[in-house]
Amino acid sequence: MNKIVVVGGGAGGMELITKIGKRLGKAGKAEITLVDICNHHIWKPLLHELATGSLDEGTNAVAYQVHGSNNGYIYQRGALTGIDRENRQIILAPLHSADGRLVLEERRIDYDYLVIGIGGISNDFGIPGVKEHAFTLDLTEQAMILRERIQHQFMQHANGQQQGKMKVAVVGAGATGVEMAAELHQMAQMLRKYGYQLEQDLLDLTLVEASDSVMPALPQSELRKAVYDKLVDIGINVSTNTLVTEVTKQGLTTKSDQFIEADLVIWAAGVKAPEVLSTFGLAVNRANQLMAADTGRTLSDERIFTFGDCACIPQQDGSFLPARGQTARQVALMIGTNLIRLLEDPNAKLERYVYKDLGSFVNLAHFNTIGNMFSFFHGGLQLAGSPARFVYASLYRRHILALHGPFKGTMILLIHGLNRLLRPQLKLW
Ligand SMILES: Cc1cc2nc3c(=O)[nH]c(=O)nc-3n(C[C@H](O)[C@H](O)[C@H](O)COP(=O)(O)OP(=O)(O)OC[C@H]3O[C@@H](n4cnc5c(N)ncnc54)[C@H](O)[C@@H]3O)c2cc1C
Repeated sequence: MNKIVVVGGGAGGMELITKIGKRLGKAGKAEITLVDICNHHIWKPLLHELATGSLDEGTNAVAYQVHGSNNGYIYQRGALTGIDRENRQIILAPLHSADGRLVLEERRIDYDYLVIGIGGISNDFGIPGVKEHAFTLDLTEQAMILRERIQHQFMQHANGQQQGKMKVAVVGAGATGVEMAAELHQMAQMLRKYGYQLEQDLLDLTLVEASDSVMPALPQSELRKAVYDKLVDIGINVSTNTLVTEVTKQGLTTKSDQFIEADLVIWAAGVKAPEVLSTFGLAVNRANQLMAADTGRTLSDERIFTFGDCACIPQQDGSFLPARGQTARQVALMIGTNLIRLLEDPNAKLERYVYKDLGSFVNLAHFNTIGNMFSFFHGGLQLAGSPARFVYASLYRRHILALHGPFKGTMILLIHGLNRLLRPQLKLW
């Protein structure tokens, strides 16, 4: 039986593995394996909510082992560290427990077709001090470590053991940085509601952006302005045209020799692919992304496919696909179709991807949601407030429905809705 291995159960990988698990694994047409470094999946665009506690991993995480047994695939926990292309095997690093015990030796897993979707990691652009002093939001573990740090810092202020303002710098005003900044302000409000003795204007948050605008990837200047205005209205200091040159324990230094004091620095200044991808002998670009055709097939190996933040896939106009949730999902699902075709006929004509921009939304916690829907209206439909929030939330709803099917998915979404009403609005343990 053909063996298909998918490495990376993220925004795109989970939808792909569910599709081929059901179509091929359950039907006994292929053995399907998912490999992921974590043991559970949380949709990455929600990691900022996990980091502030407005999302509870206990109710939102999907355990790969259980999902796999329901959807026709095998789950293997581990980090991809090598590919033996001659013998068509991937190599997983030894797995250690949090206290350093060896749990599993290095393993090898056979494949006939391999799909790599291990996502992106924060790009520090080689700037000194980022690795040592800044927090990033690449993995759920990092979001949980950050949550603890933020909670402790608020606790110190509430107990009078830290004086003055709580100075935070968020670097990068793309979706991750903007949403994280707004979430932190919401968190301070919620903590006051739950009895923390915090000054109204305790949080002194600076959002730093190298380009001349927040949300620089948004094509519409009106939307960028609407996001900027709301951020300022919330009380966030927005510093555009500001290039960070160094991060220290005390804060940020900028190219113009300005020093921005910060007790906490969150780095969200862009993504690159994990360095391990450049060690497999496959063609990669400068950001370590695997070079692939618009069929999702890597340029170096016809047995290996890739998608999402770790892939460099051209569009018809010569540019490359943006690192976004919707691209990861759409390409991953297309690779699923191509794999189904290849199992029927190894010389089958493969589907080619054409980017469909469905729009962009940015959620500023409970303060506002702003965005643009491209799919239905020529030139797009700009939305804000409740309609925008509904569309924004629909993206996650669609992900849940894809993972669990219409009935179970709807039940899960209902439970999430009830939880939001009944449970505390912040996870504080
Ligand atoms: C806070 C935040 C907000 C965002 N908001 C938006 C938004 O509003 N709109 C939008 O389009 N995009 C948004 N994004 C970006 C979006 O999340 C990504 O583009 C998308 O998740 C990419 O999907 P992916 O499947 O390529 O990778 P991911 O979803 O990152 O999944 C990668 C998976 O690979 C696993 N993995 C990593 N390394 C290894 C390894 N060596 N071996 C095995 N497994 C590994 C990880 O555990 C993970 O499960 C946001 C991102 C963040 C962090």
